[in-house]
Amino acid sequence: MKFTLPGPLTIMDTTADCFYNDRPKLNAALAQTVNKEIHALVDAGCQYIQVDEPLFARKVDDALGFGMEGLERCFHGVPKSVTRVVHMCCGYPDHLDDADYKKADPDSYHQLSQAIDQAAFDQISIEDAHCCNNLDLLDKFQLKTVIFGAVAIASSRVETVDELVARLRQALEHIDRDRLVVAPDCGLGLLSAELAEKKLRIMCQAAALV
Ligand SMILES: [Zn+2]
Repeated sequence: MKFTLPGPLTIMDTTADCFYNDRPKLNAALAQTVNKEIHALVDAGCQYIQVDEPLFARKVDDALGFGMEGLERCFHGVPKSVTRVVHMCCGYPDHLDDADYKKADPDSYHQLSQAIDQAAFDQISIEDAHCCNNLDLLDKFQLKTVIFGAVAIASSRVETVDELVARLRQALEHIDRDRLVVAPDCGLGLLSAELAEKKLRIMCQAAALV
């Protein structure tokens, strides 16, 4: 099948640009649109609003060049009573236990950490279960609350309470207790309801013990 495009095409990951031919401009326009959606959620009474950011950990230069500004623009004008959360994703395979799937380089979080800590939002959700970060990373967050991915979402192996407790204790050597939130790495869409519940129960048991 053949198809033609109406003009020059640039790609921002899976977003095709046939109009701006300029990724920072596309980014700014998308951010403005997301900002409208976020204000609609605020008006509807949402107290916690999370933006899922799919690209920063893979494209650090773009993230620092123009992405972070777009992210802040998403939350522009949101009242202080609302908690502004960003998940920085390392990528999501299309099936469970996909050993070949290449996640983002864990060093990306380190490269982005200073900009994240200074950025105008409240909480940063990072993945740790699949990549086991160098936890010096947590020392770099002095202002942000960190939502710490403690459960792998693309693996059918069920974590043990002991291993989670050990990892959370290590994390607490690098960040204040009141700025650490425990969570799964990412969305739970790949897990069956039964497996997701099992992993979440273990996560909660571990959190209660730390
Ligand atoms: Zn993710």
